[in-house]
Amino acid sequence: MKEAVEKLVETACRALSGLEEDPKALDQARIRFLGRKGELAQLFKELGKVPEEERREVGRLLNVAKLRLEEAFSEAAQRSRDVEAARRESIDVTVPGRRPPAGRLHPITQTATEVCRIFNWLGFETVEGPEVELDYYNFEALNIPKDHPARDMQDTFYISEEVVLRTHTSPIQVRTMEKRKPPVRVIAPGRTYRRDSDVTHTPMFHQVEGLMVGKGISFGDLKGILTTFVHQMFGPEVGLRFRPSFFPFTEPSAEVDIECVMCRGGGCRVCKGTGWLEILGSGMVDPEVYKYVGYDPEEVSGFAFGMGIERIAMLKFGIDDLRLFFENDLRFLEQF
Ligand SMILES: [Zn+2]
Repeated sequence: MKEAVEKLVETACRALSGLEEDPKALDQARIRFLGRKGELAQLFKELGKVPEEERREVGRLLNVAKLRLEEAFSEAAQRSRDVEAARRESIDVTVPGRRPPAGRLHPITQTATEVCRIFNWLGFETVEGPEVELDYYNFEALNIPKDHPARDMQDTFYISEEVVLRTHTSPIQVRTMEKRKPPVRVIAPGRTYRRDSDVTHTPMFHQVEGLMVGKGISFGDLKGILTTFVHQMFGPEVGLRFRPSFFPFTEPSAEVDIECVMCRGGGCRVCKGTGWLEILGSGMVDPEVYKYVGYDPEEVSGFAFGMGIERIAMLKFGIDDLRLFFENDLRFLEQF
């Protein structure tokens, strides 16, 4: 019995070493040795079986063992609290906090916002229209007759015979003129859809449409506004030219080219050696269009223009693959 008591003290002290780092294990050890049903309590229970002449001596040893263990555990608990306090003190509260990863605007959104900001500054108001559009607004009222190639099933997503996914932002022109009396100055960004998918086309893409109509608006205003836009967007040193073109809803029509932003007009792969890059289509609103919205072509005139946001973003940020915009690869997106 005396040996059992000594052995218990020895085992307990050995079990205690190193436990100050682990308060939970320390507590478990205390229950194991000193708990009400612990190993020491078991020995106290067996005291009754000890022969009477030895009982007094064993009882004394047990009480001494109990005191020693209680002391040992109390010291270990104190060391454990010291370790914890030291750990807390080692936290340097002057170190700046870790910044959680912040989201940012997609380059397409950034570009659309920048385009609109420039036109807002020129007095244009931002307006929007539906992406699921009536055939009437997408084609008919823009002077695109039933047999026009742009209506080909190859290009347009038809929801039903009279409903399409808009193929351009131009229907917003018509919707705006229907609702407002001239003068009108609006800029309209949004998603557009065509059945096209390759290196330079995605089925969903973005456009910005602009419209300015009022008394005495001329082709000179068109040139002035678009030149100002190009210089704001790409820098005042970038040259531009207006090239005759055709659109069903403008007459005359012009495409706008800017000096290649990659080679500064010298000729490279991006501009196919020409030194010029096409960035937008524009023109004087065709008088036919005014008839659909109740404007008098003898009273008012104006111009419209449209551009692809992806195209502008690629030129502005020097990106050569359109598909990068829609893969949502964070390594790409985090660069903007
Ligand atoms: Zn070039």
